[in-house]
Amino acid sequence: MDLRNINNYILMKKIVKPIFFYGGFNRVKGALRWNRTERRLYILMYHRVDHRSYPLFEDVVHPKDFERQVRFLKKKFRIVDISRLDQSEYFQANNKDCIALTFDDGYRDVYSQAFPILKKYNVPATVFLATGYINTLRLLWYDRLSWILYKTISIPDIKKLAKYEIHPKIAHDVCSFFSEKPSNSLNILRRIAAQLKKFKTKEQNFILESLANACNIEEWPGSNERTMLSWEEVSQMAMHGVSFGGHTVSHPNLNTMEHTDIRNEIITSKLEIEAQTQKPVTVFAYPYGGKEYYNENVVRLVKEAGYKYACTTNVGFETFPIKRPLTMKRKGAPNSPYLFF
Ligand SMILES: [Zn+2]
Repeated sequence: MDLRNINNYILMKKIVKPIFFYGGFNRVKGALRWNRTERRLYILMYHRVDHRSYPLFEDVVHPKDFERQVRFLKKKFRIVDISRLDQSEYFQANNKDCIALTFDDGYRDVYSQAFPILKKYNVPATVFLATGYINTLRLLWYDRLSWILYKTISIPDIKKLAKYEIHPKIAHDVCSFFSEKPSNSLNILRRIAAQLKKFKTKEQNFILESLANACNIEEWPGSNERTMLSWEEVSQMAMHGVSFGGHTVSHPNLNTMEHTDIRNEIITSKLEIEAQTQKPVTVFAYPYGGKEYYNENVVRLVKEAGYKYACTTNVGFETFPIKRPLTMKRKGAPNSPYLFF
């Protein structure tokens, strides 16, 4: 049975809360599991665990929900570390399916909110780091976009945006963001982000810089607002059962890049994490992760760089033995306590 979409969770949360998360449903699932012999590996994908929500993240999981998920998973699955996956071990007579917890990008709240829970339950997890943002006050481009639009000092009109050479389609949406009802602004923000995703990193940076100038943004996050992890936080987690994987340096769309640049992105991040944690880095996650964001050449370069496993964001699960370890499927973790498999 697959993970349901978020609307179903909300509905179920209201109607059948106790049944689904605890008793009866799990017994039915157990009965279904008796009929199959293969053991599965589910890889859950998280980004952020926090009390607050963030505009472009639908899947910020509240720490309380995260704790309930971890408790549930620990009971029902064998929780494994995909960076140290010994397939033969899991393939053998083991009654439980495996599950791995992964966190993409390297947000600071993985340390402040998720890590204490992982430690409390002694559960392994893997964090994929976009190393160009670690130990800096820099924001990933979509966080930068939200920052600019929500913290604008002066609202630019279409003429001003044109003066700053902002692409007309994006300029039009930026104007709508400021002029339409606040209830609609999130949809518009997502539309702008979807357009920006198509640009190469250099062009994206140019657009965001111009937009920041047009909006008179001078203030960026300070050290107590730092959004991404520091190397010190990474080291502390590495000493307590959290493993780290590559997620490139600048979090680009690898599908739009030249061969040498792709290789640099993949290798540089691996070497830096290895130097900082003093541990081998064996697992990688493709930025954005869908089929349109990597290709055969990218997969080959990931293999050549020495990665044994790599995660996509294609939805699904793996069965042992894993047929395509360099394009493994995942499931997005829901922002509710309810997980369905
Ligand atoms: Zn990412």
